[in-house]
Amino acid sequence: MKNGVVIVGAGHAGVQAAASLREEGYDGPVILVGDESELPYHKPPLSKTFIKDQEAKPQPLRGEAFYTGSTIDYRPGIKVERIDAAGQRLEISGGGMLPFDRLILATGSRPRVLPLPGVDLAGVVSLRSLADARLIRELSAQSEDVVILGGGFIGLEIAATLKAAGRKVTVVEAVDRLLGRAVAPVIASHVRQRLEASGVRILTGTTISRLEGENGRVSAAVTSSGERLPAQMVIIGIGVVPNVELAQAAGIAIANGIRVDQQMRSSVPEILAIGDAASYRHWFTGADVRLESVQNATDQARLAARTILGHADAFAAVPWFWSDIGDMKLQMVGLTSGGDSHVVLGDLGENRFSIYHYAADRLLGIESVNRPGDHMLGRKMLGAGFSPPPQSVAEGPDGLKAALAAFQKEPAKASA
Ligand code: FAD
Repeated sequence: MKNGVVIVGAGHAGVQAAASLREEGYDGPVILVGDESELPYHKPPLSKTFIKDQEAKPQPLRGEAFYTGSTIDYRPGIKVERIDAAGQRLEISGGGMLPFDRLILATGSRPRVLPLPGVDLAGVVSLRSLADARLIRELSAQSEDVVILGGGFIGLEIAATLKAAGRKVTVVEAVDRLLGRAVAPVIASHVRQRLEASGVRILTGTTISRLEGENGRVSAAVTSSGERLPAQMVIIGIGVVPNVELAQAAGIAIANGIRVDQQMRSSVPEILAIGDAASYRHWFTGADVRLESVQNATDQARLAARTILGHADAFAAVPWFWSDIGDMKLQMVGLTSGGDSHVVLGDLGENRFSIYHYAADRLLGIESVNRPGDHMLGRKMLGAGFSPPPQSVAEGPDGLKAALAAFQKEPAKASA
């Protein structure tokens, strides 16, 4: 493979793919092309800590020495414009061509845009990149009132962070609950209660009909019920769309993401896709999914590297995700949609509890608030293929740990 592996997108997935190629022993060229100008950085802190601290520095995914030391040719500030799949080359910004033997698409996703009158006013922003976070931090210093559109993870993390930084924050969510269908209603209402107690105003079942401005800057958001919410900054956090256009234009199959098989290969086998941009049939539920998490991006990147090196293992990682919303560390493991019952462990009043989700007595996943031990145990249980009976959850972590140990020793006996 004289042209080597080219990776498009230097985010969580792309950087891990480059690292894993080297860890797996690949010694050909690895070229990592990214359209941002920064050293690749961790995204999660952007909504949690970075925007409230004017002095905070971005956290690099890997130090500069990693790229030189591992002979990874990192090319920042370059956008890939077109894939010539048959000719195995890329057209890049500035007019050059880049040949490849294998291509990994790690193009991520971008914030969904809202066609709203006033959306182009200064002070109306979304958060995806470090550049966005720097802008939000700068605007935050000049804003007393902030309106956030969208009550999902990112919107609520930002709400808690900016509230803690002393801003007046209103969250406007179109449906009648927070966090969409991402977590159980009991967690969504717990989060709402605590955010409201901290002073965040939350309007559910409400949309914004227009944004108003003065001298080109946003000054207010007007709700569907006609209320005028003053705002010097409006943050739109209504979800993301996968960056699939490059792949689509090259004739690669798309289905809510770049469609990949269990080894991360797209419909063109020399071209793989990973991370937020990739959709696949999930081994755990059999459902077609496109997951947006650091874990999904890094585990898929590791697998893509192994596929390129000729291994045939299928994607079998246990999905997990975390979010920090004020004083709540939310951790989710497994995929809980399709559940028909649940068991609660812990105490909502103490802000420490977990929900064990079941479908026909099979453990689908666990959602935890400030109970990291349950989360870690959940990762072990689901990873081992162990499903404790729902009635045993009440025994608590010690009982579950013992049951898992017994299962691992003698799976047939323990599950009988
Ligand atoms: P990205 O990290 O987005 O990287 C894609 C890169 O590709 C970008 O740099 C993009 O600019 C570049 N690119 C796209 N097209 C091209 C092109 N044509 N040419 C060159 N470069 C291109 N996940 C969690 O699990 N827990 C969290 O708490 C959490 N918090 C988050 C907070 C924020 C503010 C954000 C934005 C995300 C958060 N996530 C969290 C989600 C997580 O960051 C993503 O799932 C992860 O970044 C996906 O990795 P990726 O490599 O697929 O995409």
